Amino acid sequence: MEASLTARDRVGIQDFVLLDTYTSETACLDNLRKRFHENLIYTYIGTLLVSVNPYKELDIYSKKQMDTYMGVNFFELPPHIYALADNAFRTMMSEFNNHFILISGESGAGKTEASKKILQFYAVSCPSTKVLNNVRDRLLLSNPVLEAFGNAKTLKNDNSSRFGKYMDIQFDHQGGAVGGHILSYLLEKSRVVHQNHGERNFHIFYQLVEGGEEDLLRWLGLERNCKHYRYLVQGNCAKVSSINDKSDWKTVRKALSVIDLSESDIENLFGIIASVLHMGNIKFEADARGYAMLNNNQEMQWLLGIPNQVLQQGLTHRKIEAKSEEVFSPFSVDHAVYARDALAKAIYGRTFSWLVNKINESLANMVSNKDSSRKTVIGLLDIYGFEVFSVNSFEQFCINYCNEKLQQLFIELTLKSEQEEYEMEGIEWEPVPYFNNKIICDLVEEKFRGIISLLDEECLRPGEATDLTFLEKMEDKIGGHPHFVTHKLADQKTRKTLKRGDFRLLHYAGEVTYCVVGFLDKNNDLLYRNGKEVMRQSKNAIIKHCFPSTEPDSKRRPETVVTQFKNSLVGLTEILMMKEPWYVRCIKPNEAKQPGHFDDVLVRHQVKYLGLMEHLRVRRAGFAYRRKYEVFLQRYKPLCPDTWPNWKGTAAEGVRCLIKHLGYKSDEYKMGRTKIFIRHPRTLFATEDAFQVCKHKLATRIQAKYKGYKVKGDYLKQREAVKWLLMLAGRCNGCERAIWELLLSEVTDLLICSRFIKGFMNRHQPACTDNSEYLAFVRHSYLTRLKENLPKTILEKDSWLTPPPILQEVTQTSALFKGKKENYPFSVCRPFADTRICKTTVPLKWTYMHKIDKTTYSVPVVKYDRNGFRPRLRQLIFTQEAAYLVEEAKIKQRIDYSSLKGVSVSNLSDNFLILHVTCDDSKQKGDLVLQCDFLFEALTKLSVIVNKQNCIHVVQGSVRFDIQPGREGFVDFKSGQESMVYRAKNGHLMVVSL
Ligand code: ADP
Ligand code: MG
Repeated sequence: MEASLTARDRVGIQDFVLLDTYTSETACLDNLRKRFHENLIYTYIGTLLVSVNPYKELDIYSKKQMDTYMGVNFFELPPHIYALADNAFRTMMSEFNNHFILISGESGAGKTEASKKILQFYAVSCPSTKVLNNVRDRLLLSNPVLEAFGNAKTLKNDNSSRFGKYMDIQFDHQGGAVGGHILSYLLEKSRVVHQNHGERNFHIFYQLVEGGEEDLLRWLGLERNCKHYRYLVQGNCAKVSSINDKSDWKTVRKALSVIDLSESDIENLFGIIASVLHMGNIKFEADARGYAMLNNNQEMQWLLGIPNQVLQQGLTHRKIEAKSEEVFSPFSVDHAVYARDALAKAIYGRTFSWLVNKINESLANMVSNKDSSRKTVIGLLDIYGFEVFSVNSFEQFCINYCNEKLQQLFIELTLKSEQEEYEMEGIEWEPVPYFNNKIICDLVEEKFRGIISLLDEECLRPGEATDLTFLEKMEDKIGGHPHFVTHKLADQKTRKTLKRGDFRLLHYAGEVTYCVVGFLDKNNDLLYRNGKEVMRQSKNAIIKHCFPSTEPDSKRRPETVVTQFKNSLVGLTEILMMKEPWYVRCIKPNEAKQPGHFDDVLVRHQVKYLGLMEHLRVRRAGFAYRRKYEVFLQRYKPLCPDTWPNWKGTAAEGVRCLIKHLGYKSDEYKMGRTKIFIRHPRTLFATEDAFQVCKHKLATRIQAKYKGYKVKGDYLKQREAVKWLLMLAGRCNGCERAIWELLLSEVTDLLICSRFIKGFMNRHQPACTDNSEYLAFVRHSYLTRLKENLPKTILEKDSWLTPPPILQEVTQTSALFKGKKENYPFSVCRPFADTRICKTTVPLKWTYMHKIDKTTYSVPVVKYDRNGFRPRLRQLIFTQEAAYLVEEAKIKQRIDYSSLKGVSVSNLSDNFLILHVTCDDSKQKGDLVLQCDFLFEALTKLSVIVNKQNCIHVVQGSVRFDIQPGREGFVDFKSGQESMVYRAKNGHLMVVSL
């Protein structure tokens, strides 16, 4: 493979592990920079993928690239996100376990793009059928929808994810993507009502206003002008050149119907988006007493079909329960604005959750089969990245806490557990120091003492709690913590950089100063009770669903936002810990979103906090592969004569003997207490390759041994029989003795006699040692008789001697295949049988069950799935009317002879046949790709039944077949050293015969 790399691919080093100066941060940075400037954005550290955002489209994500990376070992091709996706997939398939791909990096580093590339790769590389394509489309199109509703332009990224997303892609045991499930985490709802300078609201608002059809806008009461809506203009950048809201609208509009939203759902959804925009424009005026009132607000009529009176009351009053009475207390103007915004946020947030649920419904249960329990998943985690703005609030606190948790998980699964394993196994190991961010996680989440607990306490306690009392509480309780500082606690120098209402955390990824204003409010996320009641009166079905009357009322406080978030992260960690991890670490090359610009300081900082150097050191000093001795020995013992077939000693001794035989060098491996550790992947690949070669050789050897053993056994049995006959002859009386002697004299060789009898008894069986001589005798005797009884003229067609059964069909077979198919000569000595499946078992049961006319012929076949080419054992049954493909007693496919277009076979020595069927009915399945050990026999029978010799075509090279109407597949045939059947990279089924 090395040879196939182009000069460009060789720039820098593809795997940091191979870097000589691997402890030097500068050398690492140089390597990244060198590659980045050649548009080589991917580099490995072992199996971890480092990705640098190119900020420009690269021509490396084509279908051709995907094909190249399918089924290829990690280190054989230049690093690519497809290689990681493909390896995760193949490991899942071979080990039948669950995996996840953790994509991390700060905001704008390329996480969301990476997750989309992975999804697109699976969409193309996985087997497809009509149903599976449907799942694939939904999986793919859920992305633009969720991005429209959950992403927004921030200062860091024009398409920043403002929610966390974990998506499970479910695969069946054949590798088909059969469904998915999405978990969403904490949407940044505050953006609905407020955006910082240079930022926007969620994309969907702008898309609707810019792209919505005239009729739709009229129906929603909207104007085509974002500037008209207060909720859209606070960041002062409603229009951005990098975002095309109009065309994005079209994509989203289409995607909504693919993910199974009904037209009325879609109408309701847009009704909600429009209502939120109208809501933002509602103005309150103060009455004489200073209370809020609504004056002739045009917007009211567009609000979710809620009666005007109810809405007015709900937006300007709060319901208070006093003893048994309900009293309405009027809002001040400020208070009314606050309540309006709270309602807008709640509406949007709940609608977003409804949408995620809808998508999940559409991704679930698409393929209901009895094997549904046999699913494995690959999880994709694309969550908001670490964020530092000039002013950071509650949202950044949650986002950065989330990133701390993911970093902790990464440390746990790589640096920590890996080093602990070496220690446990007694492997000599120089510990690699690394920064453990547990100290920061504890600072945030520890029970009773952590920031989250303190914040909740302030939110829930009676009395006048404010953001400032929360700050004081933190100063009081965690004031001495090395990762926490406030204006009051700071030294002179630091104090200058902090305002009075700020607190600063030293995160693993850097310092972040949070402004405490709004923390309590946002954490409480209070929605007045009558706000909810008002919503219940809406005519909009989604709103009704989102504000159910069964919702517990405000007497019981719901969990605070940060506690809900913390719990959901605990849940996420549990989900991830049960799976095998793969990592993509995304790096942002510059803050200006510029292509070709590599900011050394910025990248160095990320390399540092992402722990790449530590990871590299552990990888470099560590081992790529480890397995329990028992498992390793069991797999590779055929590679050494001393361990094959059985090793008597302990597994560890066996492995030692085996690797000595294989010539492993002492620095390539280490023997632990229970496992062998192999340093480089190449050592393992070489061992595995040797095993694959050996497996085939072994199979031949075992076959030969078995045949020898069987022949020897037969000979011994025959010798016993002769002894027995002689002994019997010795005991016989005169008459009997005469008969015996006659018998024995007629057949000079007793072994021949016994073979002849056996041959007669097995005359209907396929050619074997038991009947070969007998069949030769039959053929010979027929031809001798024929020679003596030839008709006088060629016109006397009826006077030809009837040939024995083994010769009748042979003529037909010869006409079909002689001189056309390479293995035809070998078939000649193989007499045909009536059927190949015991009549008393399957076919009988089957004929009975399906009341089908008498079976004429049946034969076991291997059927190759049209998609994915998975082999499956089936029976092929011919009746007078139709051919059936049967599994046990279940008909999988019926092909009436009238719809049989033809049969293709290759000219080589394989035994594949492709039945072409008329496929214009979409319910009809496609053509059948089969492998049959009795190919000549089966096809001869078929041609006799359908009475069409010319329906069988012997072709060269490649056979095209219909997967289903309109979709074609190919089977390619070639000769080789070894017979093999596999799915080639071009998606064809490759059949190699000797
Ligand atoms: P994150 O999710 O980490 O915040 P995104 O994945 O949204 O970041 O990437 C931000 C922007 O960077 C994208 O909108 C895109 O323009 C660009 N980008 C990221 N990865 C790639 C890539 N592999 N190829 C081209 N552009 C990319
Ligand atoms: Mg993102």
